Amino acid sequence: MRRLPVYFLVDVSESMVGEPIQQVQDGMRMIVQELRTDPYALETAFISVIAFAGKAKCISPLTELYKFYPQTFPIGGGTSLGAALNFLMDSMDKELVKTTLEQKGDWKPIIFLFTDGTPTDDTTVAIARWNNKYKKSANIIAISIGDNADTHILGKVSDNVLRLKATDSISFKSFFKWVTASIKATSVSVTDMGDDEVKLAPTSSINLEKVDTTERCIIDENFVVLFGKCSNTKKTYLVKYAKRLTDIEGLEDIQMKGTEYRLVGAYPVDEEIYNSLCDSKSDRNINVMSLRGVPTCPCCGNQLGVVVCECGGIMCSDGQTTACPWCGMEGTLGAIEAGGMSITRGKG
Ligand SMILES: [Zn+2]
Ligand SMILES: [Zn+2]
Repeated sequence: MRRLPVYFLVDVSESMVGEPIQQVQDGMRMIVQELRTDPYALETAFISVIAFAGKAKCISPLTELYKFYPQTFPIGGGTSLGAALNFLMDSMDKELVKTTLEQKGDWKPIIFLFTDGTPTDDTTVAIARWNNKYKKSANIIAISIGDNADTHILGKVSDNVLRLKATDSISFKSFFKWVTASIKATSVSVTDMGDDEVKLAPTSSINLEKVDTTERCIIDENFVVLFGKCSNTKKTYLVKYAKRLTDIEGLEDIQMKGTEYRLVGAYPVDEEIYNSLCDSKSDRNINVMSLRGVPTCPCCGNQLGVVVCECGGIMCSDGQTTACPWCGMEGTLGAIEAGGMSITRGKG
């Protein structure tokens, strides 16, 4: 039997923390459940999941549908698309059965690439490798989750670049239905017609649009994500802020707007897994004056989830004297709203 391999290459960078990664998680579960009820897909489709942040990691190797169990997604720092593509190509080399004189190999694999950000590594070599050796023998569909992905770069690896315009749970659900329908249609097409060009389901009535990738895009970062450590449990967490444009006092009538970042939430992350998916230390700074809102610590419930130590580390505090879980220094610390110092922030 010839397999129809389906790869999911999923961005798990910091900006995906919280709702988006949960939606993708639920979406994967739904895809697998639905495909299992489809006789064509059940016969042919094999699924693999690769997650990438600063580094790429196999979450699930190519597995037949009835044995596939959706794993929990990790979160890491950075968006190394180049590393992700290399990891994908290495996996394809290892896992796919090639057609030879003696045997018919796998059908052309379908690759769904989900990303919400701009690559933080150099993608040139990986993209050249992809286009030289892999592009013709694969169907790759790149999906920008929200409008922060560099669709110009995605256009260099895929002729099918789409943007999921809204990221609420209804939009995500209909999007994953579309993914499922596209896999079903392709598995029918390979089984009945022997045609393994991907058959994408219609995108009408869902919040998905085809992107013109010839246009260079200017990416405006929509999130700031801070990496904190709980001063009580020593566990790590991420604090996510979303960008908002605001009126500037006295300048309401003209086009000038100010920028501020409003709290989205704070989420525990496994430090070991997080670090194993980071590429290099973050080097971008943000002025804490533009951050609005302080979360409670998601690990211990302390009132102040974002307190900045002199060492630059972010921790939680009950507002009293706290020992910094990063450097050990003890002191009474100012909350984030107190000063205008710059703090180290995650790479997103
Ligand atoms: Zn805490
Ligand atoms: Zn410190």
